[in-house]
Formats: sequence, C-alpha cells, structure tokens
Amino acid sequence: MSWCKEDALKQVADALGNRRYFKLICGASFHDVDKIKSLVQIYAQARIDCVDVACEPHVLKAVEDAYQLLPVNVPKPLVMVSLDVDGDPHFRKIHVTRSACVDCEACLPACPVDALFMDGSHQFQINHDRCYGCSRCLPTCPSDALYFQPTHALPEELLNVLRHPLVGAVELHANHLDITSLERLFDALGTSLSQKWISLCFRPTEHTSESVEAYLECFATLCEAVQPYGVMLQIDGNAMQADESHQSSLPALAGATALAERWKARFPVTLSGGINAETARLLEEEAHQWIAGVGMGTLARTRVWHYLDDAATFSQAHAVASDLVGAFKKIECFMFRK
Ligand code: SF4
Ligand code: SF4
Repeated sequence: MSWCKEDALKQVADALGNRRYFKLICGASFHDVDKIKSLVQIYAQARIDCVDVACEPHVLKAVEDAYQLLPVNVPKPLVMVSLDVDGDPHFRKIHVTRSACVDCEACLPACPVDALFMDGSHQFQINHDRCYGCSRCLPTCPSDALYFQPTHALPEELLNVLRHPLVGAVELHANHLDITSLERLFDALGTSLSQKWISLCFRPTEHTSESVEAYLECFATLCEAVQPYGVMLQIDGNAMQADESHQSSLPALAGATALAERWKARFPVTLSGGINAETARLLEEEAHQWIAGVGMGTLARTRVWHYLDDAATFSQAHAVASDLVGAFKKIECFMFRK
C-alpha cells in the first residue's frame, strides 16, 4: 500500500498549510476492528487527511481492509499511530473489582461506545476492545467497583508496527512532559520515525511555561536527528470529553493560545480534546486564524456510531461525516485573503 503514502504525506502538509487539516481519531486504546474498519471507510469518503489509530497490527489490518473497500477515486488518508511517552490517560482501560460489583447496570448508559454490558446471566461485563479510557463510567458506579489499568506495549512491538508500509505518521502522547521518557522513546524507535510526520500531543496548561519550553526544545532537537517528513503539535484540551457545547473546545484553544509565539511559527499547531462542529466556527475568529486544523475523536465516533452496524444505514453515516468534516474544510485560509 506504499503507493498512496507519498500522496498522503503531502496531503497532510497541504491541509495544515491551508488550515483545513482534519484527522479522525479512532482512539489510542480503541481496538474494535469492525468499528474501526467502518469508521475509516465512512470518514475517508468525507475526505479526511489523516486517521489516528492504536499502534497494533490487527488495528492496522482493519485500516488496510477499509482502504481496499474504498472507491478508487477516494484518496486514502495518512495513517498515524499513537504512542504513549510517559503514562498518558489515552492509554488505559477500565476494569472491575468483581467482588464489589453488584450488577446494578448504573454505569452502562455512561459509555459512548457500548463497552459495558450485562451477559446472559445478568452479570456485568466489559468489552475491552471498545473501552478507550474516557472515564465517563467511573463516577456512575455506586460501589466504586471500577478502576483503570494502563495499557502497555513493548518497544519491539511498537517497532514492528512502525515498519508497516501503511504507517506514515506517529503521535507521541506526553502527559508529564518527562524529558527522560521522551529521550528513551526516541532512542528505542530511532530511524523508524524517519520520513514520517511526528505529532506531539500534550496539554500545555497543565505545566509551567518553563517546562513546556524545555520539553519542546528537547522534542525539536530529537526530531531533527531522525529526519521526519514533518513535525506538528497537537494541543489536547478536554481529553476524550467532547460534547456538542460551545465550551467543549475552549480548553484546547486556551492551551494553543498559551504556546509561545516562536513555537506557533515553527510548527503547525492543531487541536484535539473537545472538538465539535462549533470548533470550526471558533477557528474562523481572528484570534485563532493561525491554527492549522483539528483531530476529532469522541464526536466523530458517537455521531455515526449507531449507523455503523447495518449497511442499510451507512448513507446516514456518510451524511453526518460529510457535515462534520465539511465544516472544517470550508474554513477560510487567511493567507489567501485580500
Ligand atoms: S465510559 Fe469510557 S472508560 Fe468507561 S468503559 Fe466506556 S470507554 Fe471505557
Ligand atoms: S455501576 Fe458499578 S456496581 Fe453497577 S454494574 Fe457498573 S460496575 Fe457494577
């Protein structure tokens, strides 16, 4: 599938330059291959630039299967895989203390991806392929029976996935901005990062400006050494908590605004965590006319979720996806204004 990668790499550069970059986030810990295959099919046809998936061979196979089903005139988005740098919340799954659970069902409606269910014996169960660690279910349990466990991947497993010909981009999720962990990851992955887009996803407002500066300096130096295709920053706001409200993407916008001017000038800056249709309107405002695009996960999934199980409702999913992506593709590029 390497035939499409060069085009996809360039498509991302063009979209970032025109402030119309749209990435579908399937989820760093989301492993439901049937849903991933359908999501990729639907959103590729809505003309997204990039699809961000878990760094797992069977997830890449789902993307590959989806690409083979696309009409020939539909460009294949760049494939990005997400990696954990230092214990980021995107890399965790919910678990239950069986002895504490009273099978009351109170947590079930909280899950946006139907990962929680009762089995035939009316016993509470978790579909771990679907859980992507959003935490919505956690406060609904009256018995404190739910808890998180991080998901771990060994460097050699990550290396195998990064060598897959489909992979053209890597997203590094930095939670604590721990420089030693970042250096260790670059050491382990080395040249497998070369000629790929590297995206750094982090939340600047959770750190001092000094630690953000030091971290970005280190990140920039490490990137230079591996010669990537390009580098971008993804400012995460309200991670995995998007809703339809005006407020939803304000934390991401605040994080982007907090970046020093020289980083905005050096790397394209995108937003994630809380992205919805309203975000497109906010990006038209003068103060935000330097932001290069968005990654949308929660709403991109939930808005089409119940249309994905039946081929007969795929046309409704297509319409929803086209509207969501279209709102960002229409954003005016200030560089072309008179
Ligand atoms: S609500 Fe979120 S954390 Fe809980 S099971 Fe669903 S995806 Fe996982
Ligand atoms: S809310 Fe808590 S006790 Fe009730 S089914 Fe869910 S995990 Fe079990």
